[in-house]
Amino acid sequence: MLKVLKFGGTSVGSPDRMKKLLNIIRPDESQLIVLSAVAGTTNKLVSISTLFLTGEKEQAARAIQQLRNEYDTFVDELFESESGKSKGKSTLDYHFGLINSLANDLFTPKEEKMVLAQGELISTNLFHYYLEELGVNSVLLPALDFMKVDEDHEPMVEFIAEQLKPMIAAHPAVKLFITQGYICRNAYGEIDNLRRGGSDYTASLIGAAIRSPEVQIWTDIDGMHNNDPRIVKGTKPIAQLSFDEAAELAYFGAKILHPQSVFPAQKYKIPVRLLNTMEPDAPGTLISTASEPGKIKSIAAKDGITAIKVQSSRMLLAYGFLRRVFEVFERYKTPIDMITTSEVAVSLTIDDTLHLEDILKELNHFGTVEVDKDQTIVCVVGDFGADKHGFASRVFEALKHIPIRMISYGGSSYNISLLVKNDDKVEALRSLHNRLFE
Ligand code: ADP
Ligand code: ASP
Ligand code: MG
Repeated sequence: MLKVLKFGGTSVGSPDRMKKLLNIIRPDESQLIVLSAVAGTTNKLVSISTLFLTGEKEQAARAIQQLRNEYDTFVDELFESESGKSKGKSTLDYHFGLINSLANDLFTPKEEKMVLAQGELISTNLFHYYLEELGVNSVLLPALDFMKVDEDHEPMVEFIAEQLKPMIAAHPAVKLFITQGYICRNAYGEIDNLRRGGSDYTASLIGAAIRSPEVQIWTDIDGMHNNDPRIVKGTKPIAQLSFDEAAELAYFGAKILHPQSVFPAQKYKIPVRLLNTMEPDAPGTLISTASEPGKIKSIAAKDGITAIKVQSSRMLLAYGFLRRVFEVFERYKTPIDMITTSEVAVSLTIDDTLHLEDILKELNHFGTVEVDKDQTIVCVVGDFGADKHGFASRVFEALKHIPIRMISYGGSSYNISLLVKNDDKVEALRSLHNRLFE
């Protein structure tokens, strides 16, 4: 039974880091290793693509050359042998050649996705050759041969399983498999990706597809912390989370996990461990079916939220009103995050504003519509069951000096969400932290 181990960008961020992965990977245990691109690479590929899209070819060429120089140094430091170095350089020639060639034709979002895929293709190839240089037997499984999403960009887990299992079974004597995180093919067979941070999603999808005994997400921090460590000082790792709690935190902004990455593992009850590459012995966070009653676990925040309020006296004592409102969002494939209602108004939030203008036009038929942009959802996760008392009041107490636009409580037993202005986010997170955890 293969365990799935995913290493993020920082974990493969330098030749030294890549070498140290062998302190964690056990060559004698059956493992499937999912790698991200080297830290910073995907951002650089995004910048290069933007330059191509805006027709700034010379600047793009300079940025590509600079990245290539960085990788030349990487290869020189990673490999000892001349043959290793030469294989590394050929890999770079191939992938950078491809990036350069894409610039010659019309550059569309399709070409952009091909450029973005090169980071993971390079990191996995280099690691594979590095293992070869050390004499460690491994097989590189091309993610583009099994990882697929459908027309709605939903991963096709059955398809992934059908493709991947025989690819693994073809190597009965091999213990170590390597594949790319993040990249996939879409419904048209084109190169696509699972969106930023998507390597976590890859690991969970593979875990689900092969019913792995465990998925390990190795990153640069010792597990899910009880608040955003980039904003709040003194955050602490959480030893244990339920799938629901972890999914909620990931969705509402805890960057350590891709927003959708918990669901595939949850479906097959595959435990997920969040572990620190820099501190391999730290316990990290275990995500499983178990939940700890009577505790507030963690706080997260998701920016860039738009709140929409529809007010209509027609809602009063009427049925079918909410359905018609929701149908508008459904037509534009726009997910709703939070909802609150009164007898004559409904407020809801979205983070995808691609179709906002069209949505508002349709909603205007129902009544008065108000829009508030630049909002943040603050999400507190823990045991908020209907039989509990006192936790909600602690949350409100902490936020008594901050204007709150919406409150969502009771939708699930494990979270309470509040909508505040973006500008109030930092203060909200700090104040909640002091009140709930200090
Ligand atoms: P990787 O490249 O390994 O995927 P990420 O940068 O995507 O790593 O995720 C790890 C980072 O997530 C941490 O360095 C930390 O700054 C950030 N982060 C945000 N919220 C949390 C949280 N609640 N707990 C832990 N880390 C968090
Ligand atoms: N390399 C991709 C990104 O930076 C995927 C990942 O690291 O998870 O978004
Ligand atoms: Mg990540």
